[in-house]
Amino acid sequence: DAIILFDGKNMEEWESTKPSSTNEKWTLVDGTMLVNKKVGDLQTKRKFTDFQLHIEYRIPANITGSGQSRGNSGIFLAALPWGAGGYELQVLDNYNNSTYVNGQAGSIYKQNPPMANACFPPGEWQRYEVVWVAPRFKEDGTVQSSARVTVFHNGVLVQNNFVLTGDTPYDGQPFYKKHGPSPIKLQAHGDKSEPISYRNIWLREL
Ligand code: MG
Repeated sequence: DAIILFDGKNMEEWESTKPSSTNEKWTLVDGTMLVNKKVGDLQTKRKFTDFQLHIEYRIPANITGSGQSRGNSGIFLAALPWGAGGYELQVLDNYNNSTYVNGQAGSIYKQNPPMANACFPPGEWQRYEVVWVAPRFKEDGTVQSSARVTVFHNGVLVQNNFVLTGDTPYDGQPFYKKHGPSPIKLQAHGDKSEPISYRNIWLREL
């Protein structure tokens, strides 16, 4: 059965990754979650291992900025409280915006570029379909099997069972550190461009 993570009515499945007494979240606007960069990243209260994920996002039509500072967000398929913070599927406006290849929308950040640029123009809703197979670890903490991901961006295959070499840091080498079931995290990137929105987020555990 599908688990509905966001259907436009409330953000009860989500929490801020920052400890906060106010339990602040993003902004619910017209059935969408609008990123609030002051609140920071948002993650699911539930934890997952392997899953199929459907998620939609919209870069605002009035987006400004360039490179990584234009509609940057991201979907961490397993959020981790160390290193890069998990494994990031990049969200960015690359409709008419160039950046380094493995930082484009649809990339596994800094590890693998998308097989195609499937971006729609800013202002349009776009979607990812993701199949995530989490890494498995041995008792001693070493990797038993690496994470694998398949991604369709707006219906176009952009990651084909890609094997991750670890987490997805901006700087330095990816690495694996033992973990179990983890939340899914949405990035509030610190750049100055207008915040993006998410909607229709559901998942099927595998
Ligand atoms: Mg990002």
